[in-house]
Amino acid sequence: MSAELKPCPFCGGDAGIRNWQDEELWSHAIVEWQKVHCTECECEGISSCPGYEPDTVQAWNTRAALTPPEGYVLVPVEPTRQMQVAALEGEWNRATPAEVWAAMLAARPEVPGG
Ligand SMILES: [Zn+2]
Repeated sequence: MSAELKPCPFCGGDAGIRNWQDEELWSHAIVEWQKVHCTECECEGISSCPGYEPDTVQAWNTRAALTPPEGYVLVPVEPTRQMQVAALEGEWNRATPAEVWAAMLAARPEVPGG
């Protein structure tokens, strides 16, 4: 399979495909399936048999975007230059930390790949 796999949604590690096969309990036929997994943290996507939807690669690559709960936003670990400029250039006489933080949040970047 040559489909491009997105990195792990939990740790950012590289993803790989594992092919499995086992003997079916009643018919003794050989059953094959595959899973996408993270090579770093070993989390796995859904299992799928060849030819059945949803394709395991498609499911791995179209997982839900990370959505923060109500009242939260995603910010970078290190404030960007724009966020720091917003904090430094405001009129902050008698400003509260919450007001400075609000200016920094307003200057935060879009979440990449979200
Ligand atoms: Zn991972």
